[in-house]
Amino acid sequence: MGSNLADRVAIVTGAMRGIGKAIALKLAKEGAKVVVTDVDQEECKEVVKEIEEMGRTGLALELDVTNEEDWHNAVKEVKEKFGKIDILINNAGICDLEEAGDISKMEKILSVNLKGTIIGCNAVLPLMIEQKYGKIVNISSIAAIVSWPKIPTYSATKGGVIGLTKCYAGYLGQYNINVNTIAPGPIETKMLDDVLKKLGMTRDMVCKAVSKGRIGRPEDIANAVAFLASDDADYITGQVLVVDGGYTVK
Ligand code: NDP
Repeated sequence: MGSNLADRVAIVTGAMRGIGKAIALKLAKEGAKVVVTDVDQEECKEVVKEIEEMGRTGLALELDVTNEEDWHNAVKEVKEKFGKIDILINNAGICDLEEAGDISKMEKILSVNLKGTIIGCNAVLPLMIEQKYGKIVNISSIAAIVSWPKIPTYSATKGGVIGLTKCYAGYLGQYNINVNTIAPGPIETKMLDDVLKKLGMTRDMVCKAVSKGRIGRPEDIANAVAFLASDDADYITGQVLVVDGGYTVK
């Protein structure tokens, strides 16, 4: 097992399944104490069990990223338990199709993907500034860079996450805080499954659009996150790392 993140304390949002779960497991494998958060604490406990089985430390917390009080309580509890917060991974996100003329899903998507990420950064930043240490990785999407059909609000939120990342990165370097974003391509999770079904697209169609010829695995994203969250990436800030198997260059 790696030890690149030994003694680091990390919070991961939306971590009960999919990409967030893979990130939580990878950070733990690298030695971090991982706070596994999502809307369902019981599911988070299952992830913590896996972390403990590898001899590492985890903590399951219920955290709806749109809820300021949840964030306040989470930061307080993590500080009390582990004394600091070194790493924040804003991963929680939702995606839904929107037909032209229908804005009924807009508020919800904006609220989780964009407001949730802004609130999350603001919840941990005072402590990170005080510590003079922080690594934040926000999960965007290639939908902020190239067009996927019928997800305008989703794409806008993921573009917003990139703007937010660059803004913070530009002036938080003085506090030794790095802020980066990862833009995943199609990754095999429940979210992708739902979207493909709704769009009537097959996995074959997606694979043909990817240079590497396969859909990504949650671990592909987790590996990149672990790098950006580590001191190996100490001189990298404000960047968008596209992890898409070559989708956007094909
Ligand atoms: P999943 O839907 O599999 O997992 C997302 C997790 O976030 C779920 O556990 C979900 O819980 C949780 N979540 C939803 N709303 C909230 C909330 N308000 N507070 C806390 N947690 C919440 O998605 P992925 O793992 O695929 O996605 C992870 C991230 O990666 C997202 O930001 C997504 O936009 C991004 N991404 C994914 C891609 C892909 O192809 N899979 C491509 C590009 C980006 P619930 O069951 O309640 O929804």
